[in-house]
Amino acid sequence: MYDIIIIGGGPAGLTAGLYTSRARLKSLLIEKAFPGGQVMTTEWIENYPGFEDGISGAELSRKMEKQATKFGLEIIQGSVTGVSLDGKAKTVVLEDGTDYKAKCIILATGSNPRPLKIKGEEEFRGRGVSYCATCDGAFFKENDLVVIGGGDSAVEEGIFLTKFAKTVYIVHRRDQLRATKVVQERAFENPKIKMVWDSVPEEIVGDATGVTSLKIKNVKTGEVSDLKAEGVFIYIGYTPNTEPVKDLITINESNYAVADENMASSGDGIFIAGDVRAKPLKQIATAVGDGAVAAISAEKYIEENF
Ligand code: NAP
Repeated sequence: MYDIIIIGGGPAGLTAGLYTSRARLKSLLIEKAFPGGQVMTTEWIENYPGFEDGISGAELSRKMEKQATKFGLEIIQGSVTGVSLDGKAKTVVLEDGTDYKAKCIILATGSNPRPLKIKGEEEFRGRGVSYCATCDGAFFKENDLVVIGGGDSAVEEGIFLTKFAKTVYIVHRRDQLRATKVVQERAFENPKIKMVWDSVPEEIVGDATGVTSLKIKNVKTGEVSDLKAEGVFIYIGYTPNTEPVKDLITINESNYAVADENMASSGDGIFIAGDVRAKPLKQIATAVGDGAVAAISAEKYIEENF
């Protein structure tokens, strides 16, 4: 029996693990892909304090993992399919059928990119349709690319793609970006970036070679046009991964896990940290804060209940 099982190994989960293992609690972190989560696939981070020149997502992930395991955090790879309760004990079940028991759980599962759900998206996924510029950008040297969305992810990753692309079109459904002002300024100054305002994607078109164009519709004029592009990068937000605990805790209308200021969910001994939690600001800086608070709350819960 572990004291704590942390589900998810992004900044929130790794910080929780750092705190719980320093508290000498027997801690297991289960990560479905690689420690770092979404940060691992972020090219460059410049708003996480302590790195005045910025740091690559991969490097920051490695540092967080090393720091947490140094104090005894155990990390395994596995996809959690469910959590069940047996009195106060919790059982975490993985896809392959193995299970692990713990006195409490910290859910730090983050979120996954949202699909557009338009024609061609599934068909050309991995053949021009991507949700990760860091992973796939280098395949598109001197190509025309489209990024869909107007938030920080879309604009930052659009700027990153200009390293490889001839032109990057940012297709946004309004005439104003949602992204942070400094990021917007950088995009407007970049000669390779062309903004396509008031437009929604309708269909990703391609052939045997992959994506060839994107059909877009101007929402003000109704005009439909074809934007020639070999790659379409989709950044329209994320869906929280609350599935494993959805029957045990309160989930809001957008599927985010609801927790109080101590990161306690409505489920007994289930704490929430990071992007999976309903909250106004989703950043690495807020994820690590959540992780620390969840760890201390979990420690207190164990003292009082076991
Ligand atoms: P986001 O802020 O939710 O932005 C999603 C964008 O996609 C919005 O511009 C939205 O348009 C558009 N969109 C949503 N659904 C759409 C649809 N069906 N069709 C077309 N467009 C659609 O998501 P995000 O950019 O991934 O950011 C998520 C969170 O992470 C935010 O809190 C963000 O600040 C944070 N983040 C921070 C950094 C950083 O600080 N460096 C980097 C990345 C992300 P509307 O604007 O019209 O709603």
